[in-house]
Amino acid sequence: MIDFYFRMFSSFFKIIILIIFVLSIDKINDLEYKLSDTQNQLEYYMEREKILGGAEIDLDPISNDSEFVFPIYREDYICYTSPFGIRISPFFKREMKHNGLDIKAVHLAQIVSISDGIVVDHYPAPGTPYPRGGYFKGHPVYGGMVKIDHGDFISLYAHLSWSRVKIGQSVKAGEIIGRLGNTGISTGEHLHLEMWINNKTVNPLLYLPDPLGDSK
Ligand SMILES: [Zn+2]
Repeated sequence: MIDFYFRMFSSFFKIIILIIFVLSIDKINDLEYKLSDTQNQLEYYMEREKILGGAEIDLDPISNDSEFVFPIYREDYICYTSPFGIRISPFFKREMKHNGLDIKAVHLAQIVSISDGIVVDHYPAPGTPYPRGGYFKGHPVYGGMVKIDHGDFISLYAHLSWSRVKIGQSVKAGEIIGRLGNTGISTGEHLHLEMWINNKTVNPLLYLPDPLGDSK
């Protein structure tokens, strides 16, 4: 009988140890994830410091009278690198339809949601620690990717180096969802932004506020 209780206790004990072990791996993953973001953030501020030369940093979201916010802060925006539509693909070197708009910005620039919505798809960037060990691989084409449903349209942010969302999460216009990167099929650090209406891609330039214009 004592032997039975002892065995019961010992298997119970083993289960507890196992649970503690699994939870601690989760904690380590979590810490690793937070650390990688802190490093990202540090690199980002150092990069900005280089550009702004010690000037006061005041993040200025760019919005227009409609519901749209530009996905990158005014201080971080550099230029458009590739328009929406038919173009020679820099990767495949032949004429292809470009389903989005490519935007260049400072290294690791913060990316914000262009409107209120709900996250419907999320591929953490390659190298993001996976819960319980291992690393995410990212989307084969988009790399680190976040897709948001805004009700009457969908927005998609690709090639991210880092992202901070969960599927099903609601986000506000201007809320930070990730950081600029060069993941997936990409030939340099940039944001690839897609907008979809009724299952068709549309030109984001028709909707977004002008990043060089006056903010409202
Ligand atoms: Zn693109």
